[in-house]
Amino acid sequence: MTGSPSVLSSLAVVLDGFPLRIDRDEVLRFQGYKRDVDVPTADVLALFGEALALGERLVRPRVVYRAAPVDGQSEDLIEVAGESLHIPAIGRLWGSLEAVGGAVCTVGDAIETRVRALFEERELPLAMMLDSVGSAAVESLAEAANDLLCQRALEESLRVTNRISPGYAGWDTAEQRALWTLCPGEPIGVTLNDACFMTPVKSITFLVGIGSEARVDHYFTQCRRCWMRDCAYRRAPAPTASRNPIDSSVING
Ligand code: SF4
Repeated sequence: MTGSPSVLSSLAVVLDGFPLRIDRDEVLRFQGYKRDVDVPTADVLALFGEALALGERLVRPRVVYRAAPVDGQSEDLIEVAGESLHIPAIGRLWGSLEAVGGAVCTVGDAIETRVRALFEERELPLAMMLDSVGSAAVESLAEAANDLLCQRALEESLRVTNRISPGYAGWDTAEQRALWTLCPGEPIGVTLNDACFMTPVKSITFLVGIGSEARVDHYFTQCRRCWMRDCAYRRAPAPTASRNPIDSSVING
């Protein structure tokens, strides 16, 4: 998405080069830890460090993105690309939209292959921690892609909403298929089966709303957690933890 491709691109755009930030607390959340309640032991932190180093070598983050004009919109419905997306309260949450963008994000299959091998070797704690690293990595990738779209849209005098995915916030998982019609994952090697499960497993789809009047009243929250380096539109300070901020110029599209 460097340079010319727009957030309104009707052609599928493949993005790579995302420098992922795999957050320790997020990984531990996947392990069942409650933030500010459960304190990991030194052994757990050492295991996390081992899994993180392994995971960082194995991830291959890639995103495919495609947008389409909105054909119709009501309180709980968006019509796009011949599909009807039934998303509770989306009219109130996102306001008037000109388009929506669909994305498929994956960190590839090398992590799950290694997790399977570790299970077979009975290295269960490392297998489970590496699996959580993979889950946190793909979440981080989806966040980074949402941030990049937000920044690019503002350069085009548009707004991009927060992301939502089938299976969350009351949006039926079965509509994964409709989202797939808008943006198929095949250009980055992701497939969807009849039960709406993706391969590789560490993959996420999401939808964003786009428009000059799209409701983005969460900018202060969004900017506070957004790592987009040198964003001219930033409304709140960037996070201060040690991971690298995202320089959008390294992301290829
Ligand atoms: S800093 Fe704020 S305005 Fe800039 S890309 Fe991030 S969320 Fe969007």
